[in-house]
Amino acid sequence: MPISWTPTRAEGLRRLDQFLPHAGRAYANRRNYDLGPGNHRHVSVLSPWIRHRLLTEEEVVSAVLEQHSYTSAEKFIQEVFWRTYWKGWLEARPAVWRDYTDTVRDLSSQRDGDLRRRWDAATSGETGIDCFDAWAQELIETGYLHNHARMWFASIWIFTLDLPWALGADFFLRHLLDGDPASNTLSWRWVAGLHTRGKTYLARAGNITKYTEGRFDSVGQLSGTARPLAEAPPPTPRPLASPVDPDPALPTGLLLTEEDLDPEFAMAGLDIRAVAALQTTTSRSPLPLPPSVLAFVQGAIKDASGRLGDALGLPVMKTSDSAAIVDWVQENGLGQIVTPYVPVGPTRDMTAALRANLRAAGIAFVPCVRSWDKLSWPHATGGFFQLRKRIPELLSEIRTGSLQLG
Ligand SMILES: Cc1cc2nc3c(=O)[nH]c(=O)nc-3n(C[C@H](O)[C@H](O)[C@H](O)COP(=O)(O)OP(=O)(O)OC[C@H]3O[C@@H](n4cnc5c(N)ncnc54)[C@H](O)[C@@H]3O)c2cc1C
Repeated sequence: MPISWTPTRAEGLRRLDQFLPHAGRAYANRRNYDLGPGNHRHVSVLSPWIRHRLLTEEEVVSAVLEQHSYTSAEKFIQEVFWRTYWKGWLEARPAVWRDYTDTVRDLSSQRDGDLRRRWDAATSGETGIDCFDAWAQELIETGYLHNHARMWFASIWIFTLDLPWALGADFFLRHLLDGDPASNTLSWRWVAGLHTRGKTYLARAGNITKYTEGRFDSVGQLSGTARPLAEAPPPTPRPLASPVDPDPALPTGLLLTEEDLDPEFAMAGLDIRAVAALQTTTSRSPLPLPPSVLAFVQGAIKDASGRLGDALGLPVMKTSDSAAIVDWVQENGLGQIVTPYVPVGPTRDMTAALRANLRAAGIAFVPCVRSWDKLSWPHATGGFFQLRKRIPELLSEIRTGSLQLG
């Protein structure tokens, strides 16, 4: 069955409901099997909804814990926390994102030559390596790849095809419906041996055959070694910005972005007079994005705007031009803008000038960090293990509804 990508919260909740019975031991035992397009039944395939927070990590984990004990759902919960870990790690090291975008801009302007030919062959699935070519096609056609396929693909890209990792990360970021600056960039760096320094991920033919249940035989086609790429060590983590509280007395504009389409937590006690939604998807890459990805995000924003507009009784001004936000602020006589926190990535880049313009006009721009991130990110600056060991404690602190740890 082909996957249908309906960018609504209702569809995300329907899929979550369908997946819940499988989130316990079945997930832990079978999650590494990639059975091919339309057959990803051992994993949730919820990532496009979670990435844009049509579903939040908190509610997904909470729903899982209503059906499973913590012990049996531990693996699934840890995977959700991988996302939190990558977001927190990048938040503390914005220079890693900046270096990546600079590299992609420089490399992608190459028009011809050997690199261009090999890069084109890889991104059109014409390398002659069956598994790799099939995953390139699956990504382009469906906007999704299984986690194990993403690891194998990145490893073959870097160590067999000898292509720059940043171009591979850009290919993913353009085509994935869950394309996320932190999870994507840092996972590619992890495969390349740039995250856990010196530790690379090598795709092996036997492992691919086993976990694709015999769909591929790449014996003799893959590099047998994966020498870590060399790079200066990443910057030391910078402290996370201290949160600023919005002023309840000011006429407030609520700004929605594709980074977090569930803004309710940021609205409490505020005098919200106007709502705007800013789409920034095109800034994920200097290269064009496929219509399917643009449409998914546009649909997700429309869905969230519809719900929010109804709840507040306000129209939602939708735009993909951040300069239009300044006009909107003036037209509505707003004193401050409140938005769910915009983490390091393309949306943050695209709103930099907007933030400066608002500041110059004396309008406060107040990003609100949700408890999930506020409590977890300080533990995400080292290795994943440091965050992983705190998960039970963090879940207790976050206290999501009737969360029971057993
Ligand atoms: C090279 C590479 C690039 C990646 N790029 C992205 C990306 O751009 N966006 C993205 O959301 N994930 C990315 N991932 C992580 C992971 O592959 C996907 O989150 C996962 O495959 C999504 O499928 P799922 O929803 O069925 O996951 P499930 O296994 O059902 O997991 C549930 C949720 O947990 C989160 N999650 C699971 N595994 C990871 C992980 N390893 N890292 C971060 N979050 C995870 C996702 O939100 C996912 O929806 C990447 C991994 C690799 C190796």
